[in-house]
Formats: sequence, structure tokens, C-alpha cells
Amino acid sequence: MYDAVIIGAGPAGISAAINLKLLGKNFLWVASEPTSLKAARAELIKNYPGLPDVTGEQLCWALKNHAESMGARLTDGVATGVFDTVGKYSVLVGDESYDTRTVILCTGVVTSKPLKGESEFLGRGVSYCAVCDGFLYKGKTICAVIYDKKFEREAEYLCSLAHAVYVLPMYKNCNISAQNARFVDGKPLEISGGLRAETLKTSSTSVSADGFFVLRASVAPATLVKGIETEGGRIIADRKCATNLAGVFAAGDCTGAPYQYAKAVGEGNVAAHSAAEYIDGVK
Ligand SMILES: Cc1cc2nc3c(=O)[nH]c(=O)nc-3n(C[C@H](O)[C@H](O)[C@H](O)COP(=O)(O)OP(=O)(O)OC[C@H]3O[C@@H](n4cnc5c(N)ncnc54)[C@H](O)[C@@H]3O)c2cc1C
Repeated sequence: MYDAVIIGAGPAGISAAINLKLLGKNFLWVASEPTSLKAARAELIKNYPGLPDVTGEQLCWALKNHAESMGARLTDGVATGVFDTVGKYSVLVGDESYDTRTVILCTGVVTSKPLKGESEFLGRGVSYCAVCDGFLYKGKTICAVIYDKKFEREAEYLCSLAHAVYVLPMYKNCNISAQNARFVDGKPLEISGGLRAETLKTSSTSVSADGFFVLRASVAPATLVKGIETEGGRIIADRKCATNLAGVFAAGDCTGAPYQYAKAVGEGNVAAHSAAEYIDGVK
């Protein structure tokens, strides 16, 4: 069992990892990117104390190298669910589940909204993880909405199992070449069905399938953590970065404005200290 699972490798997650290392806690650090690609995009940062002319890329890698130099190691993966399992939490990453006393959410701002019906049918024909749930649709028809090129391998895996896979790439130059992949035009709008998901409506057509995979690098907080309080998509956290769920902390852009590196780094620090205090209190 881990003391903590940190989700995210932007400034907030890196800061949480550095501080949990210093506090001697045993943690898993997971993120869908090696460092925040968003944070690395800033051309020039003028408001990060001590580094008057740093680029986003320089700052992100300096932070990441700092954490690694202290022995923090990042696990590559998308966290798709955080479940309260009485006195602890289970965090689902791919087909692995990790038990932990605390969770530190440093997931940034989720830009793509869940599709209409996505949350409602999650676990009833809608999945976020090809490796975990693909086998359920062996020989059947699947529909995969892909938000990032990095998920093409997962989509190819679905093609190897299914009779046919309807593919909706949300980016240009998709390279999926499986014979049974059928590309669908349009923007995905709504997943609907009865007891289980049955149909995806797009802006130009409608696709029926047995299973629907939504493959994206981030998951809206309220979908990721059942029962977490949010407002306008941002996690509600107090000055100790504590959320309404005991043992779940949040830091950085995911807690709301101002969306800034220094705020993210500061909250990552606070969340790590609060998590350590919580862990020491319950041990
Ligand atoms: C172009 C641009 C310029 C900017 N310029 C400035 C500036 O000059 N000054 C300033 O202060 N700020 C600036 N910002 C804002 C700054 O980048 C953000 O405030 C900062 O990156 C927030 O850090 P974070 O760690 O909270 O989130 P992010 O940097 O968004 O990191 C989130 C991390 O979580 C991971 N993640 C999300 N969901 C999951 C999941 N379910 N499973 C696994 N991993 C997940 C992502 O892969 C990523 O690693 C700029 C932003 C942009 C885009």
C-alpha cells in the first residue's frame, strides 16, 4: 500500500513529488505525459521568481530533473478512476489498481468536456481503457473516439480483438492501418442507449456498437473521483489543499484560477505536507 498516489507531472505534481520525497513518504507518481506538455508551451515566463527569462520547456524539465535527482520516478499512464475502498483508495491506471492512503490530484485543467452520455454509460458499454476492457468485445463491434495520437497503439489493440472498430480521431494524420478499422467523419456528440450504451451520434452520422472507448489523456475530476466536489469543473479545495473527501488533496490548475506555475508549485508543496500530516495521523 502506498502512502500517496500523485496524479500529474506538471509543476504541481512535480512539486508534490519533491516534497513527499523530502518527507520520506512512499508514493506512486503517475502521469499521462513525461512532463506537462501544456506547461512546456510557454515561450517566455516573466513571473516565476528567481528565473526572470525562462521558457516553459526549460522550467518544466528543470523541475522534473530536480524530482528525478531525488529519486522520484514517474509511471506513464492515465488514471481513469479513484475509488474509496473504506479507509483507503484504489487508483486505476490502465489494467493495474494501486492501493493508497491518500491521493494528490494535480491533473491541470481538463479542456475536452465529457461527451453527453459518457459518464452515464461509463462501465455499461463505455470505457477509458482498451487494455483493461478490450477483451470484453472480442469478435464484436467497437467504436473508439481518440483524442491523442499516443492512443493509436491502444486502438490497434482493439482492432486485433474486435470484428470491426469505428474510429473517430480528434486530430489530423491518424495512422491506424488495421483492415477492420472504419474511419467515421464528424465530431462526437452523444452516447445513448438503454441498459448499456448502444449508439454514438456524431455531427454527421450515427454509429452503433457493442462497446465505446473514449481515449484521452485526462479525465474530468468529477468522473475521475466519484463524490468529489467541483464548481465549474474545478475541484473545491481549502487552504490545506484538502477536498471534501478525507485523504484526497488537489493542487494546481485543477483547483481553479489563477492558472500560474508559481501557484501550482506552491499548492503542490501544501498538498504534499497536508497528505503527510493525514498519513501520520491515521497510521
Ligand atoms: C501557452 C501557455 C503560456 C503560459 N504562460 C505562463 C506564464 O508565463 N506564467 C505562468 O505562471 N503560467 C503560465 N501558464 C500556465 C501554466 O502552464 C499552468 O498554470 C501550469 O502548467 C499548471 O500546472 P499544473 O501542474 O497544475 O497542471 P498542468 O501543467 O496542466 O499538468 C497536468 C498534468 O496532469 C496530467 N494528467 C491529467 N489528467 C491525468 C490523468 N487522468 N492521469 C494521468 N495524468 C493526468 C497531465 O498529463 C499533466 O502532466 C501558461 C500556459 C500556457 C498554455
